[in-house]
Amino acid sequence: MSGKRVIMAAGNWKMNKTPREAVEFVNHLRGLIKGSSSEVVVGVPFVCIPGVAEAVKGSDIKVAAQNAHWEASGAYTGEVSCGMLKELGVDYVIIGHSERREYFGETNEMVNKKARAILDAGVLPIICCGETLTQREQGVTKEHVRYQIKVALLGITAQEASRLVIAYEPIWAIGTGKTATVEQAQEVCGMIRELLAELYGKDVAERTRILYGGSVNAGNAKALFDMPDIDGGLVGGASLKPDAFEKIVRHDA
Ligand code: PEP
Repeated sequence: MSGKRVIMAAGNWKMNKTPREAVEFVNHLRGLIKGSSSEVVVGVPFVCIPGVAEAVKGSDIKVAAQNAHWEASGAYTGEVSCGMLKELGVDYVIIGHSERREYFGETNEMVNKKARAILDAGVLPIICCGETLTQREQGVTKEHVRYQIKVALLGITAQEASRLVIAYEPIWAIGTGKTATVEQAQEVCGMIRELLAELYGKDVAERTRILYGGSVNAGNAKALFDMPDIDGGLVGGASLKPDAFEKIVRHDA
């Protein structure tokens, strides 16, 4: 079990749902998840944030953006700053997702700059990391993930590190229906916690939440979240349907 750490069920909707559909979804979800002991987060497209932030008021649902720029303002056409997200009531920003790394050239250095800006704006980053199938087969998963997280956390203080969230998402398990075994997921999440202990000390490492992501569903959530270093899930496909997501939120019911 993960001791005092509150389990997080964070949905990553990716580029799905219109603003109207998003509000309908959270209006339904807020009733479904009432009284659950998990922290519930919905990671929604930028255009859905105003409506969703309004709709979740007075509920236990938190709102995440799926990206942010590290500069506060300026000539960055198409980008959105952390201050803009904060003003809308965003609680978390997902950064370093493998889709952003692969399709939009997000590097570890950019993830680090984004983490800094998100924290400075009073929001919390959910920092994604994870290996490709080739890297797993080459036996370099730990080295790769360790490097990703070490660079992402450069300049981040111990106090900040204890509040942010890390999501380990093996790329071969994202959207493929192929989940890592609980042992595979635990092994890497445990290694990330060891790295946190090395960087910030054991107390911080024991407080930072580490999620697993990659085809989490109602059937496998409990086994994954019961592992000692897995503090919840970053959920793509199964977060798009309220009933499926509710089952993940209430994995231990
Ligand atoms: C994700 O998008 O972060 C993800 C883990 O997707 P899925 O749950 O669909 O594999």
